[in-house]
Amino acid sequence: MARRSRSLDPAEWWSVRRAQNLKPATYRCPLCGYRLHAMSPHVLIAPEGDLSRRRHAHSECVAAANLPGPPRRPGLMARLLGRG
Ligand SMILES: [Zn+2]
Repeated sequence: MARRSRSLDPAEWWSVRRAQNLKPATYRCPLCGYRLHAMSPHVLIAPEGDLSRRRHAHSECVAAANLPGPPRRPGLMARLLGRG
């Protein structure tokens, strides 16, 4: 019996944007572990706005997970750019 795996990176906040590709790809939702089709409406979530680690996820999973959004404070960008 396969266990549904959650493979969400730990992050302080997430950027979330709507996505709908015309590419016939399938992704695995990091929140529920089920597949999602790129051509169905879904969202892209990125830990701390890091688009290189963005994941495709079901909109309803993201809504249910209640991920923290980006803090609206100046200085954050500097913090991010100072990383690495
Ligand atoms: Zn999902």
